[in-house]
Amino acid sequence: MRTESATETEGLGERLGSDLEPGDVVLVRGELGAGKTTLIRGACRALGVTEPVTSPTFTIGQRYAGRIPVSHLDLYRLADLDDEDPALLEDYLTPGVVAFVEWPAAAEPRLESVTRRVTLKHAGGDAREIIVWPG
Ligand code: ADP
Ligand code: MG
Repeated sequence: MRTESATETEGLGERLGSDLEPGDVVLVRGELGAGKTTLIRGACRALGVTEPVTSPTFTIGQRYAGRIPVSHLDLYRLADLDDEDPALLEDYLTPGVVAFVEWPAAAEPRLESVTRRVTLKHAGGDAREIIVWPG
């Protein structure tokens, strides 16, 4: 898929989010500024989150209340989890949440099931190429 604006990417996220159920895990890849958080913002809205959805800055993640509770992780700074407390992820990947993981590489070996994988790529100006698998 191709989007031409942040609003369109948010809309795509909203459609993705409306299909998700408790326990689902969505991995979101792409360079800085590709639109990962923007897409997750739309998905969160579909899940009933009303508070602002921004990049977690000082922690690896945030939790939001919603129709379904949401965890939003950003593992940009984590090279791997071998030196980390195993509870780090467990604080967020609790039963019943929908989880979105930006920069998921470090967590991937520990994730038992992944519902969807999203990749965003810059495609010139405000355009983005977005792949959702399975679509
Ligand atoms: P990431 O989380 O991947 O680092 P963000 O979602 O935080 O990216 O930021 C994406 C930035 O790019 C925002 O400033 C957004 O307004 C802008 N933008 C421009 N065009 C698009 C688009 N088509 N899709 C998503 N974001 C876009
Ligand atoms: Mg981000």
